[in-house]
Amino acid sequence: MDARRHRIFACAKDRAGRPASLETASHEVHAGEASFVGRVDAAVLTHACRRRRQREPGDRPSPHDVPWPVSMRTLSVAAHGRQSSMSLTADNGEEASMPRKEILDALSRYTDPFRVTDGKGFRLKDFDPGDTLGLKMDKEEAVELLQRGSEWLAMEQDILYAQDSWSLLLVFQAMDAAGKDGTIKHVMSRVNPQGCDVFSFKQPSSEELAHDFLWRYSRKVPRRGHIGIFNRSYYEEVLVVRVHQALLSAQKIPPTLIGKKVWDERLDDIDRFEEYLSRQGVIILKFYLNLSYKEQKKRFMDRLDKPNKNWKFSASDVRERRYWNDYMQAYEAAIRGTATPAAPWFVVPADNKWFTRLVVAAAIVETLEKLDLAYPKVTSEQKKDLAAAREELKAES
Ligand code: ATP
Ligand code: MG
Repeated sequence: MDARRHRIFACAKDRAGRPASLETASHEVHAGEASFVGRVDAAVLTHACRRRRQREPGDRPSPHDVPWPVSMRTLSVAAHGRQSSMSLTADNGEEASMPRKEILDALSRYTDPFRVTDGKGFRLKDFDPGDTLGLKMDKEEAVELLQRGSEWLAMEQDILYAQDSWSLLLVFQAMDAAGKDGTIKHVMSRVNPQGCDVFSFKQPSSEELAHDFLWRYSRKVPRRGHIGIFNRSYYEEVLVVRVHQALLSAQKIPPTLIGKKVWDERLDDIDRFEEYLSRQGVIILKFYLNLSYKEQKKRFMDRLDKPNKNWKFSASDVRERRYWNDYMQAYEAAIRGTATPAAPWFVVPADNKWFTRLVVAAAIVETLEKLDLAYPKVTSEQKKDLAAAREELKAES
């Protein structure tokens, strides 16, 4: 047995508390035993990754295909992008290195099953709101994993801000109580508020209604280097406005311009708007938090039962619930009409909040990581200025 394996023996225990072998540890990773995963180190995960390679291409990812971000406390930004491997601090505090591709593969196992880049043939019923890829996790563990994801995201954001060229637009859409607010709060918990703007779009004002439907949204598209979060978005224009057609009349559009194809036309407009933005360097990720009808009722009841949650409840939420099927049809049409590689949808299972947050974090980190962002290089001219500034400061007594 080599030294590395020995270390795993020392730190990994099976569920009965017995020391586990590499094979057992790896098996546990595969079985998605997260309480156990929390204690294994990078070597186990690497091993698990290798085993995973043997799977058939095109296989639906299974629970054990999701090592991220276990065993990764700190990713070294220095190793970022340009190198083929990334350093990370394993749970036992040791420095380890993992091929970058493996890390990205690990992330994609969280995101691939839920990403829609081609709307053709898309059906909501193919996506299970209760899906967790077979993972089970206790609350503490999920919180810790998410924290690591958020830290990683914060590191990426720092570079995004510094390079001041790309920007990131995150669109969140969902039925009431699906967890938009909580997901935004937790996933973005570590980012620098200076580089991140959140906009919640509610019923439009009379000024907003006096303009074209994209007007109020286009003004809030994030500037270069920034992350913009749309908590509800221009998609409401093909969702709530489609479900309640009186809202369309309130938009004061010349009646001759509203024909049978109005919704297809709007979806087309949105599609083109997103294409335009992406050509401008705005990276767009769209999240539909896929909540089940049953779970929504449970969460509403919870809001009614718990005094400190009463404030979250609004009678209109129950009224909207009556239109559930209409909303589902509108969502399906919206995703069909606007899912593209440049502006993908993620149909994120939302019946388990911890899982929703991990998938959203993984999708954002993966996207930024793949951009290969780098801090701006200092030119020789700037270096001279820096040296001069140093001399000046030194000269102060
Ligand atoms: P929360 O309930 O967590 O506070 P929310 O996003 O549901 O968040 P609300 O104030 O409850 O916020 O609801 C905002 C409402 O505004 C939603 O019902 C949404 O459908 C509606 N809305 C958003 N955009 C438009 C629009 N363009 N036209 C009409 N209604 C809209
Ligand atoms: Mg609401």
